[in-house]
Amino acid sequence: MNTMTACVLDKWGGSLSVESVDTPQPGPTEVRVDVRACGVTRTIENAIGGGLADDPSLTPRIPGHEFAGVVESVGEHVEHLTPGDRILAYFYLVCGHCPACRRGESNQCESFGGWYGVNCDGAYAETAVIPAANALALPDGATFAEGAIATDGLATPLHVCERTGVDDTDTVLIIGAAGRIGVHLAQLAERRGARVLAAEITDDRLDHVDAVTGPAVVPIDARGDNVAERVRDATTGDGPTVVVDTVGDVDMLRAGWEALAIGGQVVSLTTHHERTFDPPLREFVEKEASILGSRYATKDEVVRAAALFADGRIDPVVTDRIGLEDVPAAHDRIRHGESHGMVIVEP
Ligand SMILES: [Zn+2]
Repeated sequence: MNTMTACVLDKWGGSLSVESVDTPQPGPTEVRVDVRACGVTRTIENAIGGGLADDPSLTPRIPGHEFAGVVESVGEHVEHLTPGDRILAYFYLVCGHCPACRRGESNQCESFGGWYGVNCDGAYAETAVIPAANALALPDGATFAEGAIATDGLATPLHVCERTGVDDTDTVLIIGAAGRIGVHLAQLAERRGARVLAAEITDDRLDHVDAVTGPAVVPIDARGDNVAERVRDATTGDGPTVVVDTVGDVDMLRAGWEALAIGGQVVSLTTHHERTFDPPLREFVEKEASILGSRYATKDEVVRAAALFADGRIDPVVTDRIGLEDVPAAHDRIRHGESHGMVIVEP
């Protein structure tokens, strides 16, 4: 059993193929994990296109980072994990000893080593090797699919809510609400008492948001002109206090800024290199507005996200479950904007 099935990317911007490859062996501070569930997501599609790193020497590469599974074997220096442990994986490769890591803000690591599934092989495979420090305990009661979603699809929204302090006094506008970040952010903000405006650009996507969220979530049709006006109308005129952009659509961001309540916050979650958003300085002052970047999540937030699933406080949104052989086609659908919610591969 020295080979396994994996989905391999030939080069950045290239194509995925399902192949038999050598089973990876863990180094002294690593663990090998039997992958039970991994998200097939837009973040990974962005990575496949070279949006996170594009050094040719990093390919061929097995992508995939939003995963959970069971520890199979551990390196000789790993003491806190044993075979059989249920884990979920932290996405960032962090040093563990810089000031940011020591104070628990590992998403701000000063010796950032890149991304799991980009700078090293990931979890579109039967087994995956990760640094032991990235293997976090999956709470009892959380399924592997919930663990996979928790690693990014819910942890990232949790970090947004911590950054902005979302509570019952807020109205949160989510741009791109039907994606996995959007649907889980909508639920989380709703559970924290906020009203939620869910902006999307197709009927399918608006229907999906409506089906998986609660009564405090109001769909907003983001097509055409006067989007800002529709957003304001949906808030009895005062505008959203928090605008979260999950897609990097500059026109929608401008509409959100225009509709923003006085004292409001605009949060960017996307990393498109060439897109800029530069409202006039005067408007910052007049609205006493803030623009925030929100960068992934801390390890603590990843575990908290899994706990929110474990006892049913948040419902996981899984739109499809597939095998490794179906992963290339699933990425084609993401590339062509034909998917929403969250697809899970169960290798
Ligand atoms: Zn660090």
